[in-house]
Amino acid sequence: DSAVADRRIDSVCPYCGVGCQLTYHIKDDAILHVSGRDGPSNHNRLCVKGRFGFDYPRHPARLTTPLIRKPGVPKGLDPAFDPADPTSHFREASWDEALDLAARGLVDLKAAHGPDALAGFGSAKCSNEEAWLFQKLVRTGFGSNHVDHCTRLCHASSVAALMECIGSGAVTASFMQALEADVVILTGCNPAVNHPVAATFFKQAAKQGTRIIIIDPRGQALGAYAHQTLRFTPGADVALLNAMLNVIVTEDLVDHDYVDAHTEGFATLAEHVRELTPEAMAPSCGVSPEAIRQVAREYATAERAMIFWGMGISQHVHGTDNARCLISLALACGHTGRPGTGLHPLRGQNNVQGASDAGLIPMVLPDYQPVGDAQVRAAFEELWATPLEERPGLTVVEIMDAIAAGTIKGMYILGENPAMSDPDLEHARASLASLEHLVVQDLFVTETAQFADVILPASAWPEKDGSVTNTNRQVQLGRRAVPLPGEARPDWWIIQELARRFGLAWDYGHPREVFAEMTRGMASLDHISWERLEREQSVTYPCPADDAPGADVVFSDAFPTATGRAKFSPTLPLPPDEPVDGDYPTVLTTGRQLEHWHTGSMTRRARVLDDLEPEAVASLAPGELRRLRLAPGEPVTITTRRGQITLRTRVDPAMAEGMVFVPFCYAEAAANVLTNPALDPYGKIPEFKYAACRLAPA
Ligand code: SF4
Repeated sequence: DSAVADRRIDSVCPYCGVGCQLTYHIKDDAILHVSGRDGPSNHNRLCVKGRFGFDYPRHPARLTTPLIRKPGVPKGLDPAFDPADPTSHFREASWDEALDLAARGLVDLKAAHGPDALAGFGSAKCSNEEAWLFQKLVRTGFGSNHVDHCTRLCHASSVAALMECIGSGAVTASFMQALEADVVILTGCNPAVNHPVAATFFKQAAKQGTRIIIIDPRGQALGAYAHQTLRFTPGADVALLNAMLNVIVTEDLVDHDYVDAHTEGFATLAEHVRELTPEAMAPSCGVSPEAIRQVAREYATAERAMIFWGMGISQHVHGTDNARCLISLALACGHTGRPGTGLHPLRGQNNVQGASDAGLIPMVLPDYQPVGDAQVRAAFEELWATPLEERPGLTVVEIMDAIAAGTIKGMYILGENPAMSDPDLEHARASLASLEHLVVQDLFVTETAQFADVILPASAWPEKDGSVTNTNRQVQLGRRAVPLPGEARPDWWIIQELARRFGLAWDYGHPREVFAEMTRGMASLDHISWERLEREQSVTYPCPADDAPGADVVFSDAFPTATGRAKFSPTLPLPPDEPVDGDYPTVLTTGRQLEHWHTGSMTRRARVLDDLEPEAVASLAPGELRRLRLAPGEPVTITTRRGQITLRTRVDPAMAEGMVFVPFCYAEAAANVLTNPALDPYGKIPEFKYAACRLAPA
């Protein structure tokens, strides 16, 4: 490219949690193409999104000026609205006017109704510094802890279980440790689609002799590399995993030395799983007792074994119980704290780890420190020179309910798209429409922005500097490569301007100054400085010294709990919130596609990616299509108790009979119109992976 590119800038991919390092090749301030760098999580590799997903910032519908809703225009999705020409519904405004109006609406609501009338959704697509500033604004300006982001829809249940059992919400080992493992369990995840570059390392591990075990209701591309696949009945995770624990206990495959030295509560767990035999659990799991025994033995007797999981585990009303079971398996067998062992929830968005670490969570301050802890609060009150609320805030779905109940009246939403991503969209959209004041900061007039009073034009990832933290706990720098279009502004600048209008004396000049403040409030960033990130590109936390590389595998000696020991947390099988029945006999499950990211706000505006997957599809097993008397490609209508969508069918031999998979990125057939908002009681995550539905030819 040296013949055509006039500049090259090193950065990180803005899509999934793998955190691939890449180089933008730029000419005349436009990204010509992108190549992989030798980063610790990608070794020069990129997937299709990292290669072809960078033209969205120049899409014709890109926001380049602040917008204010025109008087009398109703809030909501209007089929006649053209995001490329928003002037039918909004008028252009100066930054001063838009910021004044945005802030005044929120300040007035706080004055009239108190701090609980306001809430904010930050974004896992933004940098660590932006996440830090956003939660700081909500906590010190709005005056509440009503701040959350898409971790609530992603791995909140995994984090709840990890915090409870091992005292840390992050992975215990990077996915590269799979190359050192004898056995790798992949459960409730589909890495070839959702973490594609990580999947290439799983394939490499399999070729080197690692035995891959897939435990999932659906088949997947990595099945071709698997030593064994357990396809079980959707929703029966806890039954299956408890049966594995039963085998490990009754056949005494337990690592007693490890359990005695590093854990507590094993005797209670052993007693608890005694009746949960493979024979007792098999009927609900749809897996033979012998297959359960085989997998349990294989995992337990391996010298080094790892467990990776995704949203197939976390997005259930028993998501926290699912993760508790996985943690118990690892603890009982001593499979943490050594190379080739560990627990790894594969994080979804590129910065969901970092945004969570930075405190974009309602019940904890940065580094998962409880808001109710007076000592913790005192430390942040000193750092921020502001008193802080001690009551935990509401979570994503709870905030939508509080809007419907009339208690939350104003919101600030940065980079999230709840009008597409929340469960039971009709309810979520009605809530957004009923807000008295909504400020949205984004790149486009997203579905959510169509409910806004004020829209603030934000910065795309290649247009700004910032750090992000990937699934492996690697903190990495993204660099500004191209200029902002029109009047669009860096997100940290916009948050600061709103904070100033709340009377906060903020004066940051660059994200590096925000990062410096973060290192004063977050022990996880000890020995990691902005300058070090600029120099070394990537540093893993926890990091013991300024010149140490950071810990790829953690908790060899002790866990970060009060006793230094990890805890077993027994669970009992629970049914899905909405089991299938005669009226709704099919299981609906939702998720992502390889080419499209989340609600599609970026990838559906990336030409190559949208050409590859241009329309909504429902994936069905061949037998299911035959039962419906449909040929692949013919339309199907999917109905749940909450709504109905119609979309084209696709035959997928990896699907189980009695199931349908719908990606949630297509506004024209929005999967979340159908999904169930029932929450896991601990992680407060909705059951996206199981809703009872009915299929019919359209
Ligand atoms: Fe980007 Fe993830 Fe693909 Fe890597 S694997 S290029 S981080 S989307």
